[in-house]
Amino acid sequence: MQSHTQTIKTVGIIGGGQLAQLLAWTAYALNLKTLCLVSEENAPAARFSPVLIGDLHDEKIIARFCDAVDVVTIENENIAVDVLEKISKYKSLFPNINAIAISQDRLLEKNFFKSLDISTTDYVEVRAAPELKNKNGFLKTRRLGYDGRGQLRIHANTDLSCAEDLIKQQAIFENIVLFDCEVSQLIARNQRGEIVFFPLIENVHREGILRTSCFSKQIALQDSAQHYAKKIAEALDYVGVLAIEFFVRDGKLIANEMAPRVHNSGHLTIEGCCVSQFESHLRAITGAALLAPRIVARNVEMHNIVSVWPEDLTVFEHVYDYGKAPRPNRKLGHVIKWSD
Ligand code: AMP
Repeated sequence: MQSHTQTIKTVGIIGGGQLAQLLAWTAYALNLKTLCLVSEENAPAARFSPVLIGDLHDEKIIARFCDAVDVVTIENENIAVDVLEKISKYKSLFPNINAIAISQDRLLEKNFFKSLDISTTDYVEVRAAPELKNKNGFLKTRRLGYDGRGQLRIHANTDLSCAEDLIKQQAIFENIVLFDCEVSQLIARNQRGEIVFFPLIENVHREGILRTSCFSKQIALQDSAQHYAKKIAEALDYVGVLAIEFFVRDGKLIANEMAPRVHNSGHLTIEGCCVSQFESHLRAITGAALLAPRIVARNVEMHNIVSVWPEDLTVFEHVYDYGKAPRPNRKLGHVIKWSD
């Protein structure tokens, strides 16, 4: 495996959605090029980056992609481990396969939190619907769930036949957490083990989908959020930006999940911090110096545009249109309200 220095010029991104789009847009100011490996035409990332269209399982495509780039990263953790293994034979892949594989599976992820003494939700594996009788919480598929998909709210009156489909895919049940709020801690770590922390971000979800994010006023939680994030990143020998989502209850953090990539809740770091999550990720994976993400605009708010665009966009300072066709529960863009 080659060593990485600031001579890296082209970052390969597996995927071409909005996270790849924002990484590619950011790469320009860092004097980096990007190439996104995408499965379909009209990927959002194509607005700012060349794309290679092809099937991830096609070895020739993987070889072409890897030949054209200096280092590889992901924008979505749900990439088959055998594909990641093939890629990492050609080029360094950040974050590493182990970090991605754990994040792909809610059961492994929660077991991992527990192994590090990080409190998480109460969870059990579910093998049959009757196990859910009289439970109050969430049934979640172990894999491939996002934006509320692969989840079912379970309570006393739930028709448990609706749970069968998720259980067939392998699922866990989690007790409901009556949280006071939700927060995320983003961290960037490079190959030298240097770490920078983003300010704690407070998030509001509806129907399992992130709706708004702002900088948290819960300064007292910042130290423990950073401590947990550092513990996780170091245990994984993680390189890149990592996001940990927590529930907050009675002043304590309960880890819900982690994302081995830049994260929707970190979009406000573009306006709110002196260095964004996208820049930090690119710096971390290319061996450039990490910069401490100081807050430069405390009152920025990020609002996701889900399903349809609002009629009046003039009330927002910045509008990011990912260029996706409207569809129910699809994230189409995000906007920034900047009151500083
Ligand atoms: P997840 O896909 O696990 O991130 O869940 C999406 C959102 O659903 C979370 O951010 C919460 O708002 C809600 N949620 C998920 N699991 C729980 C839980 N065990 N208790 C309460 N709310 C939850």
